[in-house]
Amino acid sequence: MTRDAYDLIVIGGGPGGYVAAIRATQLGMSVACIDENAQLGGTCLRVGCIPSKALLESSRHYDQARHGFAPHGVLVGDVRLDLIAMHQRKSQIVKKLAGGIDGLFKQARVTRLQGRGRLTEPGRVLVVGLDGERSLAAKHVLIATGSRPAPLAGVALDGDRIGTSTEALAYSEVPKQLVVIGAGYIGLELGSVWSRLGAKVTVLEALDRILPGMDLDLARNAQQLFEKQGISFQLGARVENATVAKGKCMVRCSGAETLACSRVLVAVGRRANTEDLGLETVGISPDERGEIPVGDNFATSAPGVYAVGDCIRGPKLAHKASHEALACIDALAGRHAQVNYDTIPGVVYTHPEIASVGRTEQQLQEEGREYRSGVFLLQASGRARTLGETDGSVKILADAHTDRILGVHVLGPHAGDMIAEATAAMEFGASAEDLAHVCHAHPTLAESLGEAALAVHRRAIHLPAVR
Ligand SMILES: Cc1cc2nc3c(=O)[nH]c(=O)nc-3n(C[C@H](O)[C@H](O)[C@H](O)COP(=O)(O)OP(=O)(O)OC[C@H]3O[C@@H](n4cnc5c(N)ncnc54)[C@H](O)[C@@H]3O)c2cc1C
Repeated sequence: MTRDAYDLIVIGGGPGGYVAAIRATQLGMSVACIDENAQLGGTCLRVGCIPSKALLESSRHYDQARHGFAPHGVLVGDVRLDLIAMHQRKSQIVKKLAGGIDGLFKQARVTRLQGRGRLTEPGRVLVVGLDGERSLAAKHVLIATGSRPAPLAGVALDGDRIGTSTEALAYSEVPKQLVVIGAGYIGLELGSVWSRLGAKVTVLEALDRILPGMDLDLARNAQQLFEKQGISFQLGARVENATVAKGKCMVRCSGAETLACSRVLVAVGRRANTEDLGLETVGISPDERGEIPVGDNFATSAPGVYAVGDCIRGPKLAHKASHEALACIDALAGRHAQVNYDTIPGVVYTHPEIASVGRTEQQLQEEGREYRSGVFLLQASGRARTLGETDGSVKILADAHTDRILGVHVLGPHAGDMIAEATAAMEFGASAEDLAHVCHAHPTLAESLGEAALAVHRRAIHLPAVR
């Protein structure tokens, strides 16, 4: 039985919305969560983080089986690809996790409504579902409607040959040539997947570098490694249009030659889902990026209406959305809550992985902040040697006066796991000296963090200080 009034109505069942809904029930609120999809979990679970990581994992196994085992003395014969099985594995993972959220909702007594939600007046949400419309009342409304792939002028998506990450997660055959427009994390991850499976991948990027916003040294080193893996890059290439004729795509750019390919993946960022939400009826105006402006505790300009996740400012990341959701709901319940935007890690799940938290050197230079840098190269890591994965480095940036860690940037295997320690250290306001004192198990990749921390003070043991 569903009711007509709730303490909280959440619009959107992604990592922002579903986490908020569960947390609110823990704090004694009656909660309904509306999502238009049959599966909960949002972009992240259905067409984002999880399916992409499933394909990254599977494609890496395929690539390793073909090229990576011989140095270990493991000789394999005829390695073949079963793309259908790979996709089925991915879908099973998504299904299992989505079912898990359904279970959590039942356990927490969150009312789950499938349909589109729209504000009709302050404290009222209309749900348009498959079986009709319902108007619900709520003391508080949380908008967590997420984002969708940003469009690119001149490039008309046809939902098949010219598509976004959603299509690239489900290609039914390996494209002969794949052109990826955009060298951000989504383009690089999915470009890696299809390159490993046999596509000739070319990444076009309008800027003069890949991974804008991440540490420049790491991005340059990563680009070289991706090139060794067979991915081509054309930087400074501004795409003017892309067309399809007779199953062939043509991508025309200024600053680069016209490319013919079998598929185009447009990965030029994400755009907030803030249309058709009735925002105007409660006096909320999205900003020029289409995002909902929020103030303290994620309150919008409309009383009782809050917003978190990809539909507001900040990095479009699942853990950022969930963190904001928890802080928003705790604040609603009168608890102390905050999100520390200086310690939100970002990870690119290519091989090697690239992980960052805090400031980059470029940001510190722009801010005119004095800092010291400690770099450790994985070539000198015993663990990296045993893995056969010595490409990469760990860089720690610390305040020149207080030694407080301001940023950590890792390129290497399991960088996404290594960044957790750096994030925890920064969350607790650690100095490079503090991190250097942590006893790391040997032989682990995490030892590299300790060495990089020592390198900040020119005391690295296994490597002369690089700078
Ligand atoms: C290919 C890809 C890979 C990614 N990989 C990572 C990663 O590795 N790590 C990471 O942190 N992030 C990753 N992301 C980003 C991550 O998916 C998003 O940051 C995250 O999903 C945002 O969560 P959210 O709850 O704000 O919104 P979403 O997950 O987008 O959820 C919003 C939900 O609301 C629904 N909705 C929208 N409007 C309405 C409405 N009016 N009524 C009802 N329902 C509505 C949407 O359909 C959706 O289900 C990836 C994204 C993509 C596309």
